[in-house]
Amino acid sequence: MHRKLAAGNWKMNGTGASLAEVEALAADHADAGCEVLICPPATLLSRMADMAGPGIAIGGQDCHAAAGGAHTGDISAAMLADAGAHYVILGHSERRADHGETDADVHAKAQAAWAAGLTTVICVGETLDDREGGRTLDVVHTQIAGSVPNGASPERVVIAYEPVWAIGTGKVPTLDQIGEVHGAIRAQLDDTFGTAAGTGIRILYGGSVKPGNAAEIFGVADVDGALVGGASLKAADFGPIIAALGASDG
Ligand code: PEP
Repeated sequence: MHRKLAAGNWKMNGTGASLAEVEALAADHADAGCEVLICPPATLLSRMADMAGPGIAIGGQDCHAAAGGAHTGDISAAMLADAGAHYVILGHSERRADHGETDADVHAKAQAAWAAGLTTVICVGETLDDREGGRTLDVVHTQIAGSVPNGASPERVVIAYEPVWAIGTGKVPTLDQIGEVHGAIRAQLDDTFGTAAGTGIRILYGGSVKPGNAAEIFGVADVDGALVGGASLKAADFGPIIAALGASDG
């Protein structure tokens, strides 16, 4: 079983001055009891990789499915790896919404990322409409079936369950709701990729995780960590979340 993972998604936030937050995290959480990942904007990748130290892994927020070529503004998986990334987030709901990314797009990007040696953090999650319509488990099942390629393993894949309605809103599902979806994802991974892979693939919860709610979320079965947006930007917020994960039993 891999170590629990506290992952920060900085989205389109951060300049050189923000590297001080990572410096503070590296100093305070060198032995966190969990793996720590930060996915900054591409402009900060190599600088952050240079100064983060061995206790903090660095990841991209997206990559192109092609290895290179005429794709203005895009970044290939090999470029992320060259800049010092070991992970890449794929299929975040903001990319699905803002850039029309489909499950098939995410699937192709994941294959490209694996070819470059990156671990993919593949995001899934229902909208509020889906939740209220009783379609959560179906939607998440379909997204995983379409987005995660054959050959998924704990080294290649982390799943992030992120209800779209919980991202950046301060709203969080109940612990029972989180447990239900994580349990269903675990069963699907077991069925699809075999028990060894399914049991070892980490499943993160994401959506308004804060220092005040992290510990209870990390106590839910099949929650192997968190993907954190807003609260990952400041060491004073992300630090306690990392500490709560390190101290959790899961
Ligand atoms: C995210 O965007 O992945 C996320 C979980 O954001 P927040 O923590 O701000 O809700």
